Amino acid sequence: ALEPGRPYRVVLLGANGVGKTAFARIFAGAEDSMDTDECELCGDETWEKMIEVDGESATVTLLDTCDAETGSEWSQECHMQTGDAFLLLYSITDRASFLRASELRINLRRFRPAQHTPIILVGNKCDLVRCRDVSVSDGRACAAVFDCKFIETSAAMQHNVWEAFHGIVRQLRLRRDSK
Ligand code: GDP
Repeated sequence: ALEPGRPYRVVLLGANGVGKTAFARIFAGAEDSMDTDECELCGDETWEKMIEVDGESATVTLLDTCDAETGSEWSQECHMQTGDAFLLLYSITDRASFLRASELRINLRRFRPAQHTPIILVGNKCDLVRCRDVSVSDGRACAAVFDCKFIETSAAMQHNVWEAFHGIVRQLRLRRDSK
């Protein structure tokens, strides 16, 4: 169960190149006092930070994962069990990454059966309008099927990225408060 004082573990999932590291950079910001850590086993990085959402502070541990699409999917899957919430990223310019997000969502369900896990489907790179390969309505429809929230973002423009982080904290709080 989530205790009010414990950091929320938020995991970034998605195909390579969709913008997970860009998200983590925005989260990390310019602070040098932040705790950063590297997972010895898989080399994934974590950042811990206190953020304020709706006038209440929350400590978030963010995990940036690497997608090993060939062979072992171990890295992302090992975090599927330990995360409290997930930002499932794809690039709106890359249909394959959108399909990959669906696969990851299905894997997530396998690892987290019978639990309502907060997930936001994130269509990143929405600044690249001319290269759009996944429509807003496709993204929204996919989120509806997967029973999760949906947002389009641009890490490059810093558009909606904090909204995604705040949104996941709100969902975590709702879940905590309903227990
Ligand atoms: P990761 O493999 O998921 O960690 O992806 P990265 O964060 O390394 O991003 C892959 C590439 O996409 C980099 O060249 C980023 O600069 C670029 N990128 C990430 N987010 C955006 C975005 O919102 N818009 C644009 N135009 N480029 C982005």
